[in-house]
Amino acid sequence: AQGEEPPGIAFFSADMTEQVQAKRTLEHDLRRTVGSEDFVVLYQPRFSAATQEPVAVEALVRWLHPGFGLLSPDRFIPLAEASGLIVPLGEWVLRRACATIAKWPDLVVSVNVSPVQFRQGEQLLETVRAALKDSGLPPERLELEITENVLLENTEKALDVLVGIKTLGVRLAMDDFGTGYSSLNYLRNFPFDRIKIDRRFVGDLEQSRDAQGIVEAIIGLGRALNLQVTAEGVETAGQFAWLRKAGCEELQGFHFARPMSEADLIALKPRTRAG
Ligand code: C2E
Ligand code: CA
Ligand code: CA
Ligand code: CA
Repeated sequence: AQGEEPPGIAFFSADMTEQVQAKRTLEHDLRRTVGSEDFVVLYQPRFSAATQEPVAVEALVRWLHPGFGLLSPDRFIPLAEASGLIVPLGEWVLRRACATIAKWPDLVVSVNVSPVQFRQGEQLLETVRAALKDSGLPPERLELEITENVLLENTEKALDVLVGIKTLGVRLAMDDFGTGYSSLNYLRNFPFDRIKIDRRFVGDLEQSRDAQGIVEAIIGLGRALNLQVTAEGVETAGQFAWLRKAGCEELQGFHFARPMSEADLIALKPRTRAG
């Protein structure tokens, strides 16, 4: 998210050699620290458009780097993917998110799954199974967010993995919908429960007739295919009003809440059961 990075991050705009050096340092540090307390999971709520109550949270990882400060995922997820470290890091996020949200009655948690994790197939299913078992989180309270491009690579295998996830009782969301290259046929044939409208369309709603048309079409598609629709990146009251009127069911964005720590979730949704 914007505005979170401390000034220490400035080296990213330095010259190429420094960038390469910094990248190497980060990669090395990542290898050393995955799964340690140098990472934190923040939770950004999604709200029901009808009731404006929080209904779910999305787990978003941050790296508290000892030298560079708080790093947003855009700075290190690509490195973690390139090196394969996203597999242990993703498992750590999943386990942490399940264990945290298991303490809240009724709250659903969604966790981002990298294409690299998704390609692991059976190993991903095993990890999800273990995270649910160890945390006690009921499977219907876990949702996995997957971007549409992973479906293109090996469509048959992808379908198997998605069906495997559904067989565990876990929900599936297609993330950043509208920005990738999948076809509408995937939405029809693959077992998704939800589509998340990418925030670049939401951000343009008040200025662009085209963006309005696209968002209306996605909401219509969701209705036709019996998929829930969440709009991401809702930043203004105007966008909220427009989306509610257009029939979008769930909303996520800075207008409602920023990603927050586990401790701050208590203010959002008072815990009614000790964990
Ligand atoms: P995403 O999955 O699309 O997550 C939503 C991003 O939008 C988050 O950025 C969130 O902080 C930001 N956001 C939410 N509301 C607003 C808003 O109103 N305006 C704006 N401008 N931004 C908003 P974040 O946390 O920096 O994460 C960036 C991306 O990093 C995520 O995009 C996701 O693709 C990836 N990511 C984050 N955590 C994980 C993780 O645990 N595993 C994997 N594989 N990827 C992750
Ligand atoms: Ca996401
Ligand atoms: Ca997204
Ligand atoms: Ca459905």
